[in-house]
Amino acid sequence: MSLIRVLDPSVIGKIRAGEVVDRPAAVAKELVENALDARSTLISVHAASHPERLIRVQDDGTGMSREDALLALRRHATSKIESAEDLSRIRSLGFRGEALASIAEVSRLSLSTRSSEDLTGTQVEALGGAVIQVSGVGRAVGTTVVVEDLFFNTPARLRFLKSREAEIRVLSRVVWNYALSYPRVHWKFSVEGREDTDLPEARDLLERWEVLYGRGSEDGSAEFDHEAGGVRVTGVLGAPEQARASRDYQTFAVNGRVISSATLAAALRQGYGNLLPGDRYPLALVMIEIDPAQIDCNVHPTKREVRFRDEARIFQVLRRAVEAGMRRYVPTGISFEDASIVGEPRDGGYRTGAVATAPSRTEVSTEDALLLALENAPAGAVEVKEREEGDVQESLAEPEVVIWQLHDRYLLAPIRGGMVIVDQHAAHERILYEEARSHLYGGNGASH
Ligand code: ADP
Ligand code: MG
Repeated sequence: MSLIRVLDPSVIGKIRAGEVVDRPAAVAKELVENALDARSTLISVHAASHPERLIRVQDDGTGMSREDALLALRRHATSKIESAEDLSRIRSLGFRGEALASIAEVSRLSLSTRSSEDLTGTQVEALGGAVIQVSGVGRAVGTTVVVEDLFFNTPARLRFLKSREAEIRVLSRVVWNYALSYPRVHWKFSVEGREDTDLPEARDLLERWEVLYGRGSEDGSAEFDHEAGGVRVTGVLGAPEQARASRDYQTFAVNGRVISSATLAAALRQGYGNLLPGDRYPLALVMIEIDPAQIDCNVHPTKREVRFRDEARIFQVLRRAVEAGMRRYVPTGISFEDASIVGEPRDGGYRTGAVATAPSRTEVSTEDALLLALENAPAGAVEVKEREEGDVQESLAEPEVVIWQLHDRYLLAPIRGGMVIVDQHAAHERILYEEARSHLYGGNGASH
């Protein structure tokens, strides 16, 4: 007697659905991505205070004909790709044709839609994956999907949900991330019992960022745009002093798809370098544009991750772009030639301060200067290397910079919008590392 059996289609459906829809936020993500693929200019997301009870996404996009509305709920039914080759040129957010089918499988779903060619719309009701009613409906062009009683037929899933607050938080992040990445779209977001969010169309990424984060260019947030080797990175970088204790305020999108990526997060962090202590994470929006053939978004049914063909290159391009963006926080050149003691030891206070004045023959970039200062600390006067004429020119514009030493351990220097604190021991490690590296690989070994 055989022990192996082929599963019933309804069981298979539940298993497949589980891969795509693991929590209410996944429903919001799929519906929002569909609305964006339908070229909507207004997307409205509503969730009940228990989001598994109701999520509604309404858009003013292309809508669907009656025939398509019925097909849309079928598994592997999509208007976005046709052939296997299309998988290497994906520009849309969807392509697997299984989101609506998966959501319908584990909920009570209602889809109402009208395309511009039709005079009346179509409403489809489905329960646990089965279509139970189709009717005509009067409505504007666009689509509304209402998902109720999520996981009603998969109680195990329901039990795995986190608290209502936690589920709302994750769901809000989904909407927030897409709202940040698509400033030209007018977004509305409401959660039962909370204040509604209304985000009218914004001019650009920075404007949307300002509205969402309440921080703008005057607080140091700045747009960046960098292109190298067929990869374009744009976005907004928060000022170092606005960094947070978690990665929650970092948004990464690849070809318009919001993803999570340890590689991109690490490149971003490295780009901020010494401007942040090790346990802080910058506020950032990073949008990567790349030839779709260079990535694989078909790694997981949720499409939450993408694989890069040349991950090292993406890492480099992003790190450099962020480094370039951070240069404004570090004065470009200082001199230690006229260094003098400006403070006497006090209990726990500052000990020495080197006053740097420009212009002078002996300028170095601030990072180097700080590093050099460390090598010579606590001797006071700092020796510096001669640099190219260009560096000197650059430094002429810089006002004088004061560097303080604290507790024999930290160097403090003022920068625009705050100050940098350099841990001497950590920096010394870095010098040794750079030296070892330059011995190994030649060149100047500098990391930029
Ligand atoms: P996919 O997005 O991978 O194609 P889905 O199951 O999410 O698969 O959607 C199936 C199809 O239904 C889509 O290819 C699209 O043609 C149509 N569709 C879904 N949502 C919308 C929408 N909001 N507006 C217009 N068409 C939609
Ligand atoms: Mg989809």
